[in-house]
Amino acid sequence: MLRITLGGAQLDDFPAGQKGGYLKLMLENGSGDGRPVVRTYTIRHQRKGELDVDFALHSDAHGQAGPATQWALAAQSGDTIAIGGPGAAKPLPPGYDRYLIAGDMTALPAISANLEALAPDARGAAFLEVQDEADIQPLTAPPGIVLHWLINPVPGARPDLLENAVRSFDWPDGRLYAWAACEFTAMRRLRTYLREERNLAADRLYLSSYWKSGLTEEDHKIAKREDAEAVTAL
Ligand SMILES: Cc1cc2nc3c(=O)[nH]c(=O)nc-3n(C[C@H](O)[C@H](O)[C@H](O)COP(=O)(O)OP(=O)(O)OC[C@H]3O[C@@H](n4cnc5c(N)ncnc54)[C@H](O)[C@@H]3O)c2cc1C
Repeated sequence: MLRITLGGAQLDDFPAGQKGGYLKLMLENGSGDGRPVVRTYTIRHQRKGELDVDFALHSDAHGQAGPATQWALAAQSGDTIAIGGPGAAKPLPPGYDRYLIAGDMTALPAISANLEALAPDARGAAFLEVQDEADIQPLTAPPGIVLHWLINPVPGARPDLLENAVRSFDWPDGRLYAWAACEFTAMRRLRTYLREERNLAADRLYLSSYWKSGLTEEDHKIAKREDAEAVTAL
């Protein structure tokens, strides 16, 4: 995970209170035609005139990384980047008896922000998939939220990992809210479990696919739209 802080006078008009929301990073596409490559990242922290963005670094079997990862790895103090946003955060709604949270490293910034905003007496569990023990971060969370760290060295290779871990959650009798964001196939497995096996109603559930193994963000967006249409059509 690599944190980059964006700052400068151009952020003076950026709205306050956007921690956990998202940005569109406009990256050069390398062809010189002026059209940006757009990538989506969470605002991990916001201070006056500064935004922190945490990049889950990744590369394929040939050591090739996507444009956002390449940009983050090469970024130097003083570099500039165009951004769009903010897009709205997806917080955990207050007042539930239990919270069930799941995500991989791409969702760790959003989950961290959500845990920080929970009421001190909130209860539940968070299942967090990271690549290595060294990726485990100290999180600020209510004491009643139990954190479970899962190690998967190859992101996308174990779409069953989060689902299997979530199945170990002791399902409560009271009102539960579930929040999950992760790789596409892992998200679909969680969706099947939570919606079909646990009959969790749509208003008690936030589920999002943040990336898809083997696809760039452009192609992932298409897969995501087709998946949403197929689910709606059911
Ligand atoms: C609302 C939202 C918020 C997000 N916030 C964050 C965030 O705060 N931090 C963060 O790191 N990501 C975040 N993501 C995910 C991020 O947008 C994607 O991982 C994105 O595809 C990375 O762009 P890239 O240019 O590095 O790779 P791309 O060009 O999109 O993809 C190149 C290759 O890398 C693979 N790939 C993409 N992401 C990963 C990954 N994480 N691990 C392994 N392989 C990968 C692709 O499948 C593809 O094969 C967020 C996504 C959404 C929708």
